[in-house]
Amino acid sequence: MTVDPSSITIPHELLPTDGRFGCGPSKVRADQVLALAKANSNLLGTSHRQPPVKHLVGSIREGLHELFGLRKGWEIVLGNGGATTFWDAATFGLVRERSQHYVFGEFSSKFADAAAAAPHLGDPVVTRSDPGTHPAIEATADGVDTVALTHNETSTGVSMHLSRPEGDALVVVDATSAAGGLPWLPDEVDVYYFSPQKCFAGDGGLWLAACSPDAQERIREIGRSDRWCPASLDLSIALENSVANQTYNTPALATLFLLHEQIRWMLDNGGLDWCIGRTRESSAHLYEWAEASPYASPFVSNPMQRSAVVGTIDLTGVEAHDVNVALRANHIVDTDSYRKLGRNQLRIGMFPAVEPDDVAQLTKCIDHVVGVLTEATA
Ligand SMILES: *Cc1c(COP(=O)(O)O)cnc(C)c1O
Repeated sequence: MTVDPSSITIPHELLPTDGRFGCGPSKVRADQVLALAKANSNLLGTSHRQPPVKHLVGSIREGLHELFGLRKGWEIVLGNGGATTFWDAATFGLVRERSQHYVFGEFSSKFADAAAAAPHLGDPVVTRSDPGTHPAIEATADGVDTVALTHNETSTGVSMHLSRPEGDALVVVDATSAAGGLPWLPDEVDVYYFSPQKCFAGDGGLWLAACSPDAQERIREIGRSDRWCPASLDLSIALENSVANQTYNTPALATLFLLHEQIRWMLDNGGLDWCIGRTRESSAHLYEWAEASPYASPFVSNPMQRSAVVGTIDLTGVEAHDVNVALRANHIVDTDSYRKLGRNQLRIGMFPAVEPDDVAQLTKCIDHVVGVLTEATA
């Protein structure tokens, strides 16, 4: 006998208070959206060149400075397009001649591909490791001026401790799913970039980059050079606009507003340490549950490399697809694995906005669904 997974009803007392466990776009808190509705009359639909929006951008920049504990001289730079656009901007405006990439999943490979395709750059040096692991950081290769790291590989649920490799290359970190939920030390990094739809519970379409003084110097140096760059991808133009609390072209004001609300929430509750405490609590529960489960196990075998913000859980004896269908029928969504990884796996976003108690409830829901599914086939 087989059971239609979409017909499974999870008992009410097992359900989480919010069923959004995706890895981006991810859960937006209700308070952010209520505040947005209230901001309609004085912010939405007004000029991004006037004080209300400029104050908002300034407050985002100051808030991130505080959240990350940046030294004086660092700048938060922002522009339209998301982290994917930042890769293209970086091939124009950060890499002088050659970059080195540590590749361990879909996202880290995309920046390496962008650099390899850029006709004005030398062939990148690429160090790879299997999905579910990350490569060890080596001394920077000769001729490399930019090292690309990924704080959290969202496609596999592997996170990497950030430390500056030997050598004087700029260290440029894709922190898209990590920023705001994992620890890092600014001295180990020059550029820490991300989009707001992951830990910052916002919407996509924007990139933000914390830039050290050395990174700003590189941006200005390349900006002065005769390298051609489309203006919308020009980091020197983005930097100039950002320090004036503006963007080169019109940003989505609602996106900025949601981001700002989340930064305030993070700071008001205790800052990055508080956020990290939440993601650690959520992920400790998820991995302990999986290790104790007869049918689930953490995909990342080295506990030191297991992400606190994106948990990947392999299933045996039950189809992850059926589990996801049953969860979705009960308004628990986006627990699907990264498609291209091709594993029988669940992937759970545990960003700071997600309640740790909801992760605990989620595991009870999965147990319930798997119980019904396996009973039917037994
Ligand atoms: C989501 C993600 C991206 C892509 O972000 P976009 O805003 O869609 O461009 C890049 N890198 C990582 C690590 C991500 O998680």
